[in-house]
Amino acid sequence: MIAKPQDSLPASVISTQAISYLTHLECADCGAQYSASEVHTFCPDCQAPLLVKYDLEAAARNVDRERIHKRLKGMWRWHELLPVLDPQNMVTLGEGDTALLKLPRVGEMLGLTQLYTKDESSNPTGSFKARGLSAAVSKAKELGIQKVIIPTAGNAGGAMAAYAARAGMQALIYMPRDTPTANIQESRIAGAEVVLVDGLISDAAGMAGLKAREEGWFDVSTFKEPYRMEGKKVMGYELAESFEWELPDVIVYPTGGGTGLVGMWKAFDELERMGWLKNTKRPRMVSVQAEGCAPVVKAFLTGADFCDFWLGAHTVASGLRVPKSFADRLILSAIRESQGTAVAVSDEALLDYQKKLAALEGIFAAPEGAATLAAVHTLVEQKWIHPDERVVIFNTGSGLKYLDYTG
Ligand SMILES: *Cc1c(COP(=O)(O)O)cnc(C)c1O
Ligand SMILES: [Zn+2]
Repeated sequence: MIAKPQDSLPASVISTQAISYLTHLECADCGAQYSASEVHTFCPDCQAPLLVKYDLEAAARNVDRERIHKRLKGMWRWHELLPVLDPQNMVTLGEGDTALLKLPRVGEMLGLTQLYTKDESSNPTGSFKARGLSAAVSKAKELGIQKVIIPTAGNAGGAMAAYAARAGMQALIYMPRDTPTANIQESRIAGAEVVLVDGLISDAAGMAGLKAREEGWFDVSTFKEPYRMEGKKVMGYELAESFEWELPDVIVYPTGGGTGLVGMWKAFDELERMGWLKNTKRPRMVSVQAEGCAPVVKAFLTGADFCDFWLGAHTVASGLRVPKSFADRLILSAIRESQGTAVAVSDEALLDYQKKLAALEGIFAAPEGAATLAAVHTLVEQKWIHPDERVVIFNTGSGLKYLDYTG
């Protein structure tokens, strides 16, 4: 028996007039438009991601942000600005509306008065990948897709397995053999087939791509389908709402594929165009990577507008072990437009901050999340971040999923 998704949806989702203001898809490079009621992946001409577009003018006229605020908690309370047209297709496990926590002790240690974490570890499957996969699997369901495949550094696979199970879909996952055990086991227990690959996520991507073409699986690799970014952009809406529609000064984001960074930047654009923000001041976006795999940092520092493939990627922060993102241009342009920066940190430093964050604040962060604090340390020393700025670090997942590395 597959649970009907509407059983768990808030009544507000079902009773609203326009469920979504979705209009079409648009290539991030050439601007070509594609229908959102057909299955599309990325722009074949540019090999670039497709962005999801909405009728924001109509949304601004008809949607009241206070009404969204009053709805039952969860990512789908923003359904007017999400891509699913029929509430029955919203595949949810209760993702979103994670806590925004002040970090007074770690803040004091770093010399900051307003340091916060958006703590994504409370999402289903223990990481913020739940948001993206909830959106992607939901839209796949709406488009009639029954088999989903993914190459993953770990958490995306676990999330895809769970949402595919919830949707009654078949799931096939390619992950590097040295992915944290929790990711392999959570995927298998949710009924997914897991293939362990001797290599990196890029090798897994090659194999999954081939399998997808041969057997008709739908590939939900980030940015190779348009909708995962839509789930993750909601982190930007939630931040804006938490800060009473005045965005923080600095957002520090551990970057692998860059889905959340690009997604939040899109969310801020949408909010601004709907007139929901108090001013036009945007956060400076900081991309954090590991020294053993820092393609975005290298490209940012050399002024390049795309990333070179990073050879020999290695770091305990498995979510950051992405040698080249499919959305490298979008990541770099968001960082630059925001007057942000990019920082690489050592595994030693991020593991040290993982302990500090747990011991001083009680938050057992994923190594990727802890990496953001090591970067903040550097940026405060460089006076790039000022003592009274409002700084939000993203703890993207739970440390409990990495015990084989850090326990
Ligand atoms: C995937 C992942 C990241 C990187 O996220 P992107 O949006 O792909 O850059 C960071 N932290 C954790 C825990 C992850 O699972
Ligand atoms: Zn194009």
